[in-house]
Amino acid sequence: MSSFSIIRGGRLLDAAGRTAPFKDILVKDGAILEVGEPGLAAPPEAEVVDASRHLMHPGLVNSHTHGSGALTRGYLDRWNLEMLLMAAPRRFGNQSAEIKYLNTYLGAVEMALKGCTVAYDLTFGVPVATTEELIAMGQAYRDAGIRAVMAPMLSDISFYRAIPGLVESLPAELQRLSVIDAADATDEVLRLMGEALAAWPHDRDHVKLGVAPTIPTHCSDALMRGSDRLVRDYDTVMQSHVGESKVQVLAAKEFWGKSMVAHIDELGLIGPHFSVAHGVWLDDDDMRRLADRGASVSHNAGSNMRLGAGIADSRRMLELGVNLGIGTDGATSSDNQNMYEAMRAAQQVSCVRQPDHRLWLSAPEVIAAATTGGARLTGFGHVGSIEPGKRADIVFLTLDHPNWMPVNDPSNQLVLVEDATAVRHVMVDGRFIVRDGRHLASDMAALAGKAEAARETIASLNQADMAVAERLEEAVTSFCRSLSAKPYSVERYAAFPCRCETPEAGFAATPA
Ligand SMILES: [Zn+2]
Repeated sequence: MSSFSIIRGGRLLDAAGRTAPFKDILVKDGAILEVGEPGLAAPPEAEVVDASRHLMHPGLVNSHTHGSGALTRGYLDRWNLEMLLMAAPRRFGNQSAEIKYLNTYLGAVEMALKGCTVAYDLTFGVPVATTEELIAMGQAYRDAGIRAVMAPMLSDISFYRAIPGLVESLPAELQRLSVIDAADATDEVLRLMGEALAAWPHDRDHVKLGVAPTIPTHCSDALMRGSDRLVRDYDTVMQSHVGESKVQVLAAKEFWGKSMVAHIDELGLIGPHFSVAHGVWLDDDDMRRLADRGASVSHNAGSNMRLGAGIADSRRMLELGVNLGIGTDGATSSDNQNMYEAMRAAQQVSCVRQPDHRLWLSAPEVIAAATTGGARLTGFGHVGSIEPGKRADIVFLTLDHPNWMPVNDPSNQLVLVEDATAVRHVMVDGRFIVRDGRHLASDMAALAGKAEAARETIASLNQADMAVAERLEEAVTSFCRSLSAKPYSVERYAAFPCRCETPEAGFAATPA
């Protein structure tokens, strides 16, 4: 028997129109059947949901995060991507299956509480996580009630080998400590990824498994081609960190004589199922390649600032036809999982790229990226908007909150004012997962206790490795600092040349 509910009395955001007219929404079996004027007819048995004094908007889509990092929020205040990549496995490694589940669940609960109903989660790669652990982490999203693409981060080249000249620049003793070689891992990684895809038990409309060759310079061509085969065999999606940092794009030029995007395009990876995370250091040719093949970029403006990656040219991406999503990135690199803040960061940072205000992102453009753009990027075509045929994933913001006093321009207020404090209810498939500001499936005090215990366990398990990380840190960061001072074909720092030491050893990057 079908179940109906009718949502009455609320105001429905019309982002493009910058309005929020009163609308009623009829939901049948978790899907939106009709959106109509107040007083919309409904079957007599329909459950009535009172949305008066609320603004409704589609559940937000977080196009890039890492569920593996929720327990590391606020860990360090000044570190860049290379410092993070070097330190993260040593500082936060050795996690038990239980802690991996907790990490993922905690991130999912935070997103739910903050109005996000879909996450693209680049999670623990294989073999760091087993198939059973991946399935359990998928269950964490089911338990928290939000949708996710979970894409294990794959690599077969170590961080140290992914930066030309880095290992050679280190003193002999540190060279020995740094080399965690993943040689010959390619076949094993692909085998395990294929095994997990074949075994995936979750409903793919809720939690599907994607594939994430993590950073192209950390992946052999064989691994990337194999990943692409798996994506096509299992009809799923792929994401990779592309052009996140200047070090990455300089390394790509050195390895391949071309940009990261050009290289993976020639390997055949780019298509509508493919998305770039960050894309800070993409040039016009890169963006055109992505646009021509129907690919997407997750614009993670907050993380890009937090890690000093630079300011991505989101306006140029839109001009050239790239589909844009908005991401928070993981808690290790940008702490909270708040899509409202990620939207605000995307809008505001677009304003400091150039003085012509007509080129800044508008609030409706940012909202589109965080909803329909994200739906397309994640391959979840059944969400992202509140219209007939879509699933009823709806956020209810109370208007009895300073953020909405008064209601001026609802689109501007969603992007420039809302900070998730007005989120009262969140619905997925027509059922509340957050009600009156509470995540219904969670006991927050118990969750806090588990998180504290996990923090202590992680710290004690990784103590020895942390000592190594600290010794490597200065040598590696000074090498990367020098690299970042070299010229590149596009400029993404707010101030350049930078105030670092003169570039020395390493390699000569050729400006295009
Ligand atoms: Zn990331």
